[in-house]
Amino acid sequence: KKYVYGFEEGKKEMKSLLGGKGANLAEMSKIGLPVPPGFTITTEACIHYIEIGEKLEDSLKESIFEHLKDLEKKIGKDFGDVNDPLLVSVRSGAVISMPGMMDTILNLGLNDKSVEGLAKKTSNPRFAYDSYRRLIQMFGNVVLGIPGYEFDNYLERKKEKKGYDNDTDLTVDDLKDIIKDFKALIKNRKDIEFPQKPEEQLLMAVKAVFSSWNNNRAISYRNHNDIPHDLGTAVNVQTMVFGNIGENSGTGVAFTRNPATGENKVFGEFLLNAQGEDVVAGIRTPKDISELNNLMPDVYDEFIEVTETLEQHYKDMQDIEFTIQEGDLFLLQTRTGKRTADAAVNIAVDMEEEGLIDKETAVMRIDPEDISQLLHPNFKEEELEKADLLAKGLAASPGAATGKVYFNSEDAAEAAADGEDVILVRKETSPEDIEGMVKSNGILTSRGGMTSHAAVVARGMGKCCVAGAGDIQVDESSRQFFVDDRVFNEGDYISLNGSTGEVYAGIVETTDANLTDNFRMLMEWSDEYREMGVYTNADTPHDAEVAVDFGAEGIGLCRTEHMFFDSERIISVREMIVADSKKKRKKALDKLFPYQKDDFKGIFKVMQDKTVTVRLLDPPLHEFLPQNDRDIKNLAEQLSIPVDELKRIIGELEEMNPMLGHRGCRLGITYPEIYKMQVKAIMSAALEVKEEEGYDVKADIMIPLVGTAKELEILREDAVEVAEELLENSSVKVNYSVGTMIEIPRAALTADKVAEHADFFSFGTNDLTQMTYGFSRDDAGKFISKYLDQEIFAKDPFQVLDQEGVGQLVEKASELGRKTKPELKLGICGEHGGEPSSIEFCHKTGLNYVSCSPYRVPIARLAAAQAAL
Ligand code: ADP
Ligand code: MG
Ligand code: MG
Repeated sequence: KKYVYGFEEGKKEMKSLLGGKGANLAEMSKIGLPVPPGFTITTEACIHYIEIGEKLEDSLKESIFEHLKDLEKKIGKDFGDVNDPLLVSVRSGAVISMPGMMDTILNLGLNDKSVEGLAKKTSNPRFAYDSYRRLIQMFGNVVLGIPGYEFDNYLERKKEKKGYDNDTDLTVDDLKDIIKDFKALIKNRKDIEFPQKPEEQLLMAVKAVFSSWNNNRAISYRNHNDIPHDLGTAVNVQTMVFGNIGENSGTGVAFTRNPATGENKVFGEFLLNAQGEDVVAGIRTPKDISELNNLMPDVYDEFIEVTETLEQHYKDMQDIEFTIQEGDLFLLQTRTGKRTADAAVNIAVDMEEEGLIDKETAVMRIDPEDISQLLHPNFKEEELEKADLLAKGLAASPGAATGKVYFNSEDAAEAAADGEDVILVRKETSPEDIEGMVKSNGILTSRGGMTSHAAVVARGMGKCCVAGAGDIQVDESSRQFFVDDRVFNEGDYISLNGSTGEVYAGIVETTDANLTDNFRMLMEWSDEYREMGVYTNADTPHDAEVAVDFGAEGIGLCRTEHMFFDSERIISVREMIVADSKKKRKKALDKLFPYQKDDFKGIFKVMQDKTVTVRLLDPPLHEFLPQNDRDIKNLAEQLSIPVDELKRIIGELEEMNPMLGHRGCRLGITYPEIYKMQVKAIMSAALEVKEEEGYDVKADIMIPLVGTAKELEILREDAVEVAEELLENSSVKVNYSVGTMIEIPRAALTADKVAEHADFFSFGTNDLTQMTYGFSRDDAGKFISKYLDQEIFAKDPFQVLDQEGVGQLVEKASELGRKTKPELKLGICGEHGGEPSSIEFCHKTGLNYVSCSPYRVPIARLAAAQAAL
């Protein structure tokens, strides 16, 4: 088996065999860029080495030394020559770059003798001894495993003692002392001599790289990042070029474009008289790449040319490492450069305009999850660095927020009305907190998961939220929270990063969201390719407006109950719930009717000709009931019934499992007048908006929680009856349809029958997921993290659709539904409707649209396009 490849034998497509670094070194050599020659020992050799018990087979050793001979011929120097030695670097290069893996060793091949030879040959003893010092240091650290700081601390002390500012101030004698002491350090810690035989150095280094594939840090990194354990790492052995020969040499790193902004201008830094990672290590302050133009204009011009060649060849922004040896430029690495979301968008659009890539490639280049950064305010990088980190919770809803803490909805709303920046802090939120949430800049909870009330509602509002920050203890009654021994009182400032889950004390400055022209362009391109519609989940005209701005083509889920919590109308809602006769209930419903109608009118006006899917009342009624004594007393007075009587009624409404109780269409079956009022409100609103504004309003009436076809049949009849009566008495006509959510497994399995009564299906995958797994999403937070740790779940099924299980129900229901009605409209309105991998699944399953919270609409547009490409 061929385990070793010269750079001239490889190419960029051979990444899995040669590792990323090796494949690109080969590619750069191939296209004629100045790369010091070398060879790559393959990932397969690594895997084999591990399989046979961490041993280098003789045949592999032979092959390595054969390639070394080739290098000697090319360079005209011998490995181990005491007068003019060939020196190499040994560089690890995994397929996917991984922190925690072994690093690089430079200047390998030097020993006590050849360092003298090198000094003589180059007439530059400082350079020779500095190189040897570095070799021993890197070898001691990387191959022998002595902590790097032991060497660093020693160097610091040495410089201090001598009164030097820089490592370049060290004299030849200093360096000789250091070499002696470093060798003693190795002897002392590891009880071996620093190996003098270059061949031995090389084989030890190769073994160390291979073995590092299976060190604990590397294994746990792979576990965390879903990287397979059988990839192995390659080793690159490369002729050294020296940036530490003097002031006409140097080393640096650069991006072919600005990785923060995307600006098409080389961005980078370099240091003169330096080697390896000196630039990154920050031992001296590096110079901006533009200064190279003053210092070595020829090298600079060549460098700029190289970056252009690289971009033309790779068709993407590159991150490169280079070294200048006495005025000659060498490239030591190139890879696709990491970039901010902002830069990613700008680079993709610019490159399309430059003709480097086509539109499809531009659309595929952007990670949909990344663009949420662009839709929200962010903290300023430099401010974050000095910020006082308090705790870390779940990144529940992205964005950045700063404000004074308040501990209940009323106080928060009041403070906000006084013009203060407010952060609402709660153990967890409930529907009663909506107003405070609306008025706050951000929301922090100490409990609850990614689908807790706070998280879902905040995402819907596009509001920053950190949920389940368990290190924070919230005491709502004393209006304080505690972190370790620190106390925060009402009115104290904190800052939340909803994109990372981090909570900071005090104020951290933010930057605005930025929807640039390039961003809009990319969205337009996405729209050209996607086949599914993108709707939004919106309960208010404001949310609807935000969503339409982001490109929403309809509303896939308008939850009517969110309209019930307003302080004025909650009274009528409560009156309706505790009514003990149909007559009393109707009276309460009559009071609610005008509110509901106005709400819907507001939404229809924003959505104009676009479809609005309204879900009829869904949650268990008791959610609307007063919780504390004061509210109960108020309500009793309002209804002029005794407090005890009211308490009895409330008691009767209590359920063991409200989520599996009297909710959804079951309410419609038992209290038909509720749904009838809602349908009347929807249709009246639609007719009035059509009449007043002329919009071609489209109302989709959606019945929740259907489990049997019969339920839908009955409720559909009720709805149609109300709607038709209104239409008959109206001079205008509007389009409406009646459909159902598919969120109960039984409905999915009998979807052919359910479809007989439905004009559309909308998969409510939040409920469908909890009903399929049999755990409630409000309680799953307690164990899901354990499940993720133990890899029982690869992903939280409330965030990423479980295609294997829940997905089957979606597929089955789609298939059965379309068997009955080939034109049946299918959509999804669960949280998954905004998650890229779930969106891809929806595309494959043939759904007509996805619906997601307003701030995820652009993400869904992009993900839907990528699914179609
Ligand atoms: P990493 O993956 O940590 O960047 P590298 O293998 O790229 O490790 O090497 C670390 C540093 O050493 C880089 O700055 C690189 O440019 C430099 N380096 C590696 N090989 C050579 C070489 N043959 N000649 C000069 N510098 C080298
Ligand atoms: Mg490194
Ligand atoms: Mg590197």
